[in-house]
This record gives sequence, C-alpha cells and structure tokens, in this order.
Amino acid sequence: MREIVVQKFGGTSVATLAAREHVVRHIERALAEGSRPVVVVSAMGRRGDPYATDTLIDLIEAVGGHPERRDLDLLLACGEVISTVVLSQTLRERGHNALAFTGAQAGVVTDDNHGNARILRVEPERILGAVADGAIPVIAGFQGRGPSGETTTLGRGGSDTTAAALAVALGASLLEVFTDVEGVKTADPRLAPDAATLEQVTYREVAEMAHLGAKVIHPRAVEIAMIGQVPVKVRPTESDAPGTLVCDGGPQEGLERSAADKAVTGIAHVSDRVQVLITPKEGEDDAAVRLFDRLGQALISVDMIYVSPDRIAFIAEGKEGPRIEGILQYEGFDYQLRSEVAKVSAVGAGMHGVPGVMARVTSALADTDIPILQTTDSHANISCLVPEARVRDAVLALHQEFELAGTASVKMT
Ligand code: ADP
Ligand code: MG
Repeated sequence: MREIVVQKFGGTSVATLAAREHVVRHIERALAEGSRPVVVVSAMGRRGDPYATDTLIDLIEAVGGHPERRDLDLLLACGEVISTVVLSQTLRERGHNALAFTGAQAGVVTDDNHGNARILRVEPERILGAVADGAIPVIAGFQGRGPSGETTTLGRGGSDTTAAALAVALGASLLEVFTDVEGVKTADPRLAPDAATLEQVTYREVAEMAHLGAKVIHPRAVEIAMIGQVPVKVRPTESDAPGTLVCDGGPQEGLERSAADKAVTGIAHVSDRVQVLITPKEGEDDAAVRLFDRLGQALISVDMIYVSPDRIAFIAEGKEGPRIEGILQYEGFDYQLRSEVAKVSAVGAGMHGVPGVMARVTSALADTDIPILQTTDSHANISCLVPEARVRDAVLALHQEFELAGTASVKMT
C-alpha cells in the first residue's frame, strides 16, 4: 500500500470556507504525491466562533453550577465532530471519497480522566480499512473512548496528540501539522514579529520549547512522534511554504556543537502564573514535605520549585492562586503570593556546557530593566520569572541577545 501521511489541521485552518480551500489543496497535494492522507481536525475557530471549544464551554458555564466532567466531555467533543462532517462533505463535493469519524470510531482509546485523558492505544483497523478502500478518513481530534465506552477529551492541544498517536499506530511515513504560522519559530511571532522559522529542529528541542510554553505543537505529540520515529512537519495552512521539519538531529545530535552553532535555539514563554514564596518557621523542618504533599493532594501542579532551609519557592497556573492561598492559610505558612507573573525561557540543546549563557540572559534582562523574580535551568534551558507586564520585552530582549531574528530560515541540527 502507498504511504500514509497524517495531516492535522488546527482550529483556524478549518474555521472558514476560504481556509478550508487551503485544507483541500494540501490534501490534494498529498494525493498527487502518491500518499494516502489521513486527516485529523480540531474544532472550527477560536472563542466566539459558534462551534469553537471555548464557545461550547461558555455555553455550559452560562447555565451555572459545576457541570459533570463526563457531560462536559460529551459537549466539547461536538466541536471536532462538526469539523469532520463539514470537511468530509467539502472533500466529497470535490469528488473525493471522504469518511468522517469520531475519535472513538477511529479507535482512539484513552483512560477515564475526563477533560485531560491520556491516549492508551489506537486500534487502527477501521482507519486502515477505510484507507485500503480508497477513502480519505477525516477524524475528530482531541477526543477518544474511555475504558467504559464514555466519550473523553484530551485537554488543550489534544488534536496534535491524536494526530501523533494515529500516525504511529498507522505506520505513517510523515505527520504534517498545519497551523496559522509558518512553522516552529524562534519565538512566538505574536510577541516577536521578526522571529525566524526553524528549518529543521530535533524532537527534543521542540518538546522542550513546547513544555516551556510554545503552543505551536503539543509536547505530548512531539514525544509520541519521537518514540514512534515518525518525522513531523509543522507547516502553514495558508501557503505551500515548507515549514519546519522535526526529526532526530542526525550525527551531530548528542555531540558537542561547534562554536559556530547557536547555544540558544528559541525563546518560549508562558503567561498567567502565580509565584509563591514561603519562609519556613524556626525549627519547621518538614515544611517542604507538608506543603508539596498538600498541593499534590489538591492536584495542583507546580513548577520552578526551589527548596532551601530558609526559603521555598514555586510557581503555578494563575487560576490556582485562590486554592493555593487557601491551603497556605489553612496550614499556617508564612508566605507571599505574587500574581501576574510569566516565565520566559531560553531553550537550546546547544547551551549545555557553554559558559556565559546565564550571564547573557541576566544582562540582557537587566539592560532592559526587567526584574528577574526567580530562575531555574536544565541542560537545555534557562527560565526566568518576570512580571507579566514585561513578558513581551523579556522575550524580545532574549531574542535579540541570542541573535535569533531573521527573515531567512535557520538550519538547526
Ligand atoms: P492550532 O489551532 O493550529 O493548533 P495553536 O494556536 O494551538 O494553533 O498554535 C499556533 C500558535 O502558536 C501560533 O499562532 C503562535 O502564536 C503560537 N506560538 C507560540 N510559540 C510559537 C513558536 N515558537 N513558533 C510558532 N508559533 C508559536
Ligand atoms: Mg494547537
């Protein structure tokens, strides 16, 4: 059988008639190249658009109370189902044999964690059968079937994960992720309009950027593709530009880079965080244990964790602020909570062992009068917490410091 290519189209890519023209063009190109396209779609548009995920959430929130998580998933899954039907009809009108599938019908099996379910496996038979019959399957992303047959959803960015899991399960030769930007860029182009499009980047670096906030592709999708060794292309829907190829780095990966290579590949950021600083009381040796135990029980995920005998610090999503404060007060901690902070990260597999990267980060922010509230680092990133109001300036300062701007593509290995 000819090679399967999984093509995933995000919310804006399927939102309008004009956008769906581009979608059809990319599917027809895959057919013309001799591939068998398998299409995965997100819900149409963004908040305010009638069938966008956020619009559906607003609809139920307007009723008040706390909707059942099971019901909420049933509602949210509708957005992608609508997209599949509209797109498959569009394809049929062009003379193609398209078939719409829900996630469950496509064999996407998840755990029962409603709202943030994990894909356990994909049963590929039905989609493989459709492809063998010459059809173009159009599959609803972001959703699956739980252990008892319930409809589940995968959380933000879930369609990327659906597409990656399907690509691996179907033995696809390529996963194409179509979106509203030219590819994976050196920073979010909404903040850094001069960000360059990366021509090629490793799974690890993109996963790192995605974990640190670059929402162009979901980190879990990158990890699934990496494990399954399916190359990924992140491409614009609107044009035929080649986008970014995500794959293993070839012979250079893991080896030391030459001095000419950049230590930093890109700048990522996440907004809307809260920072918590705690001063343990005299003789209170179990403060960290008690604190992280309570936060864990409340299912509050924390980040940028720092623990020393006289200081505990961490950050969390902004919306968790009130719950965290409740726990801190109940437990009698001496704390400060600072809301409206953001994490800005310099990312690059090449920074490991390169002296002076931290110096450049701190001086670039200092030169722009941006206070650093906290830092963390790993072998492939340095993250700084800054006031939310300065997030754009911080991204631009680091982007400039590491000379990432450019209209030409940058080749990375
Ligand atoms: P889709 O609906 O297609 O999944 P998303 O909104 O989830 O699209 O992701 C695309 C957005 O990701 C872009 O509009 C861009 O603002 C944002 N983004 C953040 N960081 C980056 C980056 N490093 N490169 C490209 N886009 C980025
Ligand atoms: Mg997305």
